Amino acid sequence: MLTEELTAKGVTLVAVSKTKPASDIQDLYNLGQRDFGENYVQELVEKQPVLPADIRWHYIGHLQSNKVKYIAPYVYLIHAVDSFKLLEEINRQAAKHNRTIKVLLQLHIADEETKHGMDERGITELMEYYEAQKDSLQNIEICGLMGMATFTDDEAQVRAEFARLNNCFKHMKASYFIGKSHFDTCSMGMSGDYHIAIEEGSTMVRIGSMLFGARNYPA
Ligand SMILES: *Cc1c(COP(=O)(O)O)cnc(C)c1O
Repeated sequence: MLTEELTAKGVTLVAVSKTKPASDIQDLYNLGQRDFGENYVQELVEKQPVLPADIRWHYIGHLQSNKVKYIAPYVYLIHAVDSFKLLEEINRQAAKHNRTIKVLLQLHIADEETKHGMDERGITELMEYYEAQKDSLQNIEICGLMGMATFTDDEAQVRAEFARLNNCFKHMKASYFIGKSHFDTCSMGMSGDYHIAIEEGSTMVRIGSMLFGARNYPA
């Protein structure tokens, strides 16, 4: 089974439940799954109140600053931070609720313009702003990186893209986050490519269709 395989490797499974009904999430919850991922604010806002309070909700999609407020009371980890402005807004909303929100920075690794994220330079720039303003950013915790590989059958390309993400992750850990045990997450790998992602150092996979079946509409 998938969960045993991942547990043995120390990889966290985020069950991506976007477009699926709350009952599907409850079924998996009953089997012990606690980490679930959504990528539409509206869907998360509808599902969260009707599901168990100890679910760790991962927001895995592109997030607009003006929507942070809707998920700030409960979101556990925001995967796709791609600007300093968004980071500041997450901090502001987290502070309102007296909590800390974990975030990952999104590195753009795919050979496709439709996938969001920053390049290495963008990440370095964001980190420079962050370092300079750390004292006023006490309500966020940068825990690692996230990325999405190109949707292709070319395994070598996918592997190279994941390797690039893992390199950037290791570089950041050895520079900005020395001795910071909370910086431990390299979120990469989906239903079609998670094996390769794990071989390239993933610590967290985001799997949807393999667990819940194909989605009725693309998301
Ligand atoms: C939908 C989605 C996934 C899961 O995709 P599957 O191919 O269904 O496993 C993972 N990550 C992100 C960012 C997604 O939007």
